Amino acid sequence: MPDDCLFCTIVAGEIPSTVVLDRESVFAFRDIAPAAPVHVLIVPKRHIGDVRDLKAEDGGVLIEMFQAGNEIAASEGIAESGYRLLVNVGPDAGQTVFHLHMRLVGGTWLGGVGPG
Ligand code: 5GP
Ligand code: ZN
Repeated sequence: MPDDCLFCTIVAGEIPSTVVLDRESVFAFRDIAPAAPVHVLIVPKRHIGDVRDLKAEDGGVLIEMFQAGNEIAASEGIAESGYRLLVNVGPDAGQTVFHLHMRLVGGTWLGGVGPG
């Protein structure tokens, strides 16, 4: 793990977070600055920088991340009302933390399709 990776530090429990789910390969916690009533970050425990670093052997952890999204949506009560799973890649997308993360947002109308 890179010493300076914020999300590796959160996964290790060295920086506190509000944990939503903790599985063998995947960890999920509430975003510190929620943009919606439900805003959870789902990350692989093993450090992966971002989508551009993915390799074929990362397929298993990606499935686990989506499965975690399903479970969290159900436990947050938004599986039926709907939600968004978003992944920023690189500067133009506004990625600020370079440890792969999928954000699950929902609990309100999120607006139509657009660049935001
Ligand atoms: P990005 O900007 O890379 O797509 O997403 C990073 C997300 O991490 C942001 O939504 C930001 O609010 C969240 N974040 C940044 N620092 C912390 C932190 O220390 N704890 C938690 N729980 N979330 C954080
Ligand atoms: Zn990391």
